[in-house]
Amino acid sequence: MAGLKALGGTSDILPDEAAAWQALEEKARRVLRRYGYQEIRTPLIEEAAVFTRSLGEAAEIVTKQMYLFEDRGGRSVALRPEGTASVVRAFIEHGLDRTASVSRFYYAGPMFRAERPQAGRRRQFHQLGVEVFGSASPYQDVEVLCLLRRLLEGWGLSGWALKVNSLGCREDRRRMVDQVRRQMSPHRAKLCHDCQERLEKNPLRILDCKEKGCIQLSQAVDLLESVCPTCREHFEQVTRTLQALQVPFQRDAHLVRGLEYYTRTAFEVIHSGLGAHNALGGGGRYDDLVEQMGGAAVPATGFAVGLERVLLALESEQGKPPAARPWDAFVATVSPAQIGEALALAESLRQEEVRVFANVEDRPLRRQLEQASKWMPDGFVFILGEEEVAKGIVTVRNLSTGKQEQVRHSELARWIKGR
Ligand code: AMP
Repeated sequence: MAGLKALGGTSDILPDEAAAWQALEEKARRVLRRYGYQEIRTPLIEEAAVFTRSLGEAAEIVTKQMYLFEDRGGRSVALRPEGTASVVRAFIEHGLDRTASVSRFYYAGPMFRAERPQAGRRRQFHQLGVEVFGSASPYQDVEVLCLLRRLLEGWGLSGWALKVNSLGCREDRRRMVDQVRRQMSPHRAKLCHDCQERLEKNPLRILDCKEKGCIQLSQAVDLLESVCPTCREHFEQVTRTLQALQVPFQRDAHLVRGLEYYTRTAFEVIHSGLGAHNALGGGGRYDDLVEQMGGAAVPATGFAVGLERVLLALESEQGKPPAARPWDAFVATVSPAQIGEALALAESLRQEEVRVFANVEDRPLRRQLEQASKWMPDGFVFILGEEEVAKGIVTVRNLSTGKQEQVRHSELARWIKGR
């Protein structure tokens, strides 16, 4: 049988990398706590309608990228391609709007999209996202953007840029579709094949196309022309407040988001170290979605950040992080007779938060020291021989200097913590 491998576009996060993931999540949780966000964990699979109803039947993420299957009971089920729809489903299902006037949630976990795998584009990838329900205020959009900035800063990223636009209300959206169709139709032949199709079905997506010709044509489009005065005032308030709070941003009159549900404020963060797929994350306001999915008319704002891309961006700024060492010390035995004692010593040290490896094999001390040097070149070996056991001491060997000294068992935890 051929060797089994992870599916294309999916990856194992190996122990050396997992430390970086944990650090990312811990730093994020620390920031999120300060803004009062609480974690929500929704299932990785949902009834397909959760996504078709929210993202729109015509959205490319639904038509081309969703992992869709029939389960054993004949139900149409999807692997979640994004987080917002599931959070909104849960919000409505559990009546979370009744428990607090402003509800703030965050999630972190895998998403699935059947895309052509390439650098920065995976079929299983991870997002960290936030959703705030219950406020239609432009200041709420700004607060969410402040949080996004603090997350990026907390991770240690600097080479990012925030782009902001307004997609207006539902009526504005209809005008925008007409506007783009009107502006693009005379240049149909210059659009790429996909965008010629989009011109009929989903003209706004043309503004998102990465083909040179399409980018050029998009430059002439200013979506704000289609935005009504009320939505425009909302947008002006957002940008004024961002300026006042010194959140760096650029207006981007062609920014559209891939997902259909955004209204008014929409934004994206890009990073200069990422290459072709340079978006770190994005989000915006979605005032109609809760109602559209069967709930009350509850306005909301949120964003999602791609964690693989955050790690790539960090690596582009800081290089690969050094692998973390899992041990503080190695308990070695002179002969197999001390293995039981070595285990007992390791157990008591672990109770005091010392990270120790204990030798359990019948092998010469020399081999154990070689292994310890490989694993922790600047660490310590606690050597147990007949004499040490009899006296209740260990011989501590400093692996970087080769120096040895004797320390009592009872002093050992304190001794190693002092190094
Ligand atoms: P979206 O939900 O499409 O707005 O995506 C939000 C963020 O998730 C993007 O900016 C990326 O950082 C990340 N992302 C989206 N799709 C993928 C993918 N296929 N592979 C890796 N990251 C992705």
